[in-house]
Amino acid sequence: MKLFDVYPLNPIEIVKGKGSLVWDNNGQEYLDLYGGHAVISIGHTHPHYVERLTDQLNKIGFYSNSIRIRGQEELAEKLGHVSGKVDYQLFLCNSGAEANENALKLASFYNGRKKVIAFKGAFHGRTSLAVSCTDNPKIIAPVNETDHVVFLPHNDLEALQDAFTTYGNEICAVLIEGIQGVGGIRPATNEFLQLIRSLCDQYNAVYVADSVQCGYGRSGKFYSHDYAGVNADVYTMAKGMGNGFPVAGISIAPKFKPWHGMLGTTFGGNHLACAAALSVLEVIEQDHLMGNAASIGAYLTEELNKFKQVREVRGRGLMIGIDLPEELSHVKKELLFKHHIFTGEAKPNVIRLLPALNLTKAHADQFLDAFGQVLNA
Ligand code: PMP
Repeated sequence: MKLFDVYPLNPIEIVKGKGSLVWDNNGQEYLDLYGGHAVISIGHTHPHYVERLTDQLNKIGFYSNSIRIRGQEELAEKLGHVSGKVDYQLFLCNSGAEANENALKLASFYNGRKKVIAFKGAFHGRTSLAVSCTDNPKIIAPVNETDHVVFLPHNDLEALQDAFTTYGNEICAVLIEGIQGVGGIRPATNEFLQLIRSLCDQYNAVYVADSVQCGYGRSGKFYSHDYAGVNADVYTMAKGMGNGFPVAGISIAPKFKPWHGMLGTTFGGNHLACAAALSVLEVIEQDHLMGNAASIGAYLTEELNKFKQVREVRGRGLMIGIDLPEELSHVKKELLFKHHIFTGEAKPNVIRLLPALNLTKAHADQFLDAFGQVLNA
């Protein structure tokens, strides 16, 4: 059997990691500012994480969601505390797409409606409903139900107001990333999120904050929506939640009432997943990683803005998009192959930085130095 060839593979094979550094099979060291697409939140092989997971695996790795799992209760309590949403409720699943899928189902059970408002540039995952709300026709298969999704321009107050005037009580949910990730690191404005909040209140629609990429402290606040001073009805999270262990969840406002069998999954919230997510929260809290993300992020942004070749620097905290002109399309490759620094990308020519939240100033400087060399070569 061979692999189903869907990923344009980079030939480098990473075999080891520590903090923000990784090594390939030839022993070459790399600075990791990509974190496997915003997944590595507390650094590779963090000792507390390794200890927690090993300890859990030695006790029990999995049982069943029909039996009490204390780790789920501990995780819910800790998440409420660290995110500041103590009265919210937690449902656990396995991936970002699954979290969004469940959030929209919850919304639809709640108000009995079907129509979903999504935005140009959005990415919400590849399951049926999540991919229908993703602005990329190439990855939407004929079987995916798209009739009920309305795409609006991002950050356009008037278009949003008009959509509610047109569809009013048909609208089930507004699904929005606090900062678009795949779309090129584009933060939603505070005014836009505030208008979503007030229109959802007025029309009994559900505000779903896709925090899969921008959440779990990455923006410098737990949810980037916190910058706008609004509470979403449902937050979806994954990626950084498990620092590499597949775990995802939705944080659900108190007004939603569960009934048995409403949502469910075999693997979601298993003992290991809870140990991973809990240890990540413990490190975020103990090491003040949201503060570090905010300050190192602000430093990087300020320094990057000094390069005259850079068109725009966008984002918040350690979720940074460096928008470069077309003629600088070689930068990402040179950072990797000449300077051994992993970064991400977005179209048309945006370099995405999604490092661990405990990135040091020395590593930020290492990147800035290499970036300057590539630009000025
Ligand atoms: N939402 C957002 C904002 C994402 O960036 C992603 C992944 N890139 C997803 C959802 C889907 O997450 P997963 O790949 O874990 O299903």
